[in-house]
Amino acid sequence: MEREISFSGAFPVVARSTMRPGGWHIGFLCPNCRLHFAVMEDPTESGAVTLSGPARFQATCPHCKQEREYRVADMVVFEAAQGGPTSSA
Ligand SMILES: [Zn+2]
Repeated sequence: MEREISFSGAFPVVARSTMRPGGWHIGFLCPNCRLHFAVMEDPTESGAVTLSGPARFQATCPHCKQEREYRVADMVVFEAAQGGPTSSA
């Protein structure tokens, strides 16, 4: 079932240090180191979630420690695999 999450406003978000293997997560692709990191779990548990809204997210990449501002358009939904996240985007 397709669901939509709409964000508005500015959010400081914290990257999750652990991801549940096989679980779907919502996060960002760091443009600096090209690695994904998750900031929340996908409530649909399926990746069938649409993200929208004018929000801004202040997040620090847990891989290279670069802090930057992301937008909803930068969000990616991906399934975490054993040994690391795998992009579906
Ligand atoms: Zn990074």
